[in-house]
Amino acid sequence: MPAEIRVFRCLEDNIGALVHDPATDACAAIDAPEEGPILKVLDETGWRLSDILVTHRHMDHVQGIEALKARFGCRVTAPAKAAGEVPAVDATVRDGDTVRVGSLSADVWETPGHCRDHIAFWFAADGAVFAGDTLFTLGCGRVSESSYAEMWTSLSRLARLPDAARVYSGHDYTLSNARFALAVEPGNAALRARAAEAEQAKADGRFLIPSTIGEEKATNPFLRAGDPAVARSAGHEGADPAAVFQALREWKNRF
Ligand SMILES: [Zn+2]
Repeated sequence: MPAEIRVFRCLEDNIGALVHDPATDACAAIDAPEEGPILKVLDETGWRLSDILVTHRHMDHVQGIEALKARFGCRVTAPAKAAGEVPAVDATVRDGDTVRVGSLSADVWETPGHCRDHIAFWFAADGAVFAGDTLFTLGCGRVSESSYAEMWTSLSRLARLPDAARVYSGHDYTLSNARFALAVEPGNAALRARAAEAEQAKADGRFLIPSTIGEEKATNPFLRAGDPAVARSAGHEGADPAAVFQALREWKNRF
């Protein structure tokens, strides 16, 4: 049976996600930004939290863990490289490991760049990747601790997922990302349509998460660093995509 997935806002701009296995009733929160919104969705759905899967150790992704674990006794799975920095951890995982949520399973991908411990969870059978702060709708996370080259490698790996793969990111920065993307590629028709869609979603109280890998490859400048027009816009015509990526990311930091 396919996973049931709910996404919802937490804190200022974090996105909470619950993944439910209808076959066993297991249910995982992807990160725990804030207890209240997670409890609300559990209450609405009748799901019971069995797991928390942590993408990285930043406070806005882990601060709800202890309260949720105290309430539900759920199992906390965190990146091995964040050992000791995520509260109440039961299991740690590395690249290539498999995490089970009832009968659902996710491949663990180490995606350093935003921080050195960052991992993504790829639920292949469900075509869903939880990308945390690595890949956002129309954007990507800030690079700290790791090198730009590592972040580029992580993003490139995500970009090789099937076009139909759904991308669940850890924040909704879509409108500001869209403004930057349009500065990079004002002539990209797919991007212009997407930016308009994002504005409409905002007006309707929705957000464009999940996205898909295919949509991101067509509109997200950080996945398009290999495109000659994007390289030119970044002032790096003919350069290696990793160098173009770095120029784009530094430009976005100043934008
Ligand atoms: Zn973060």
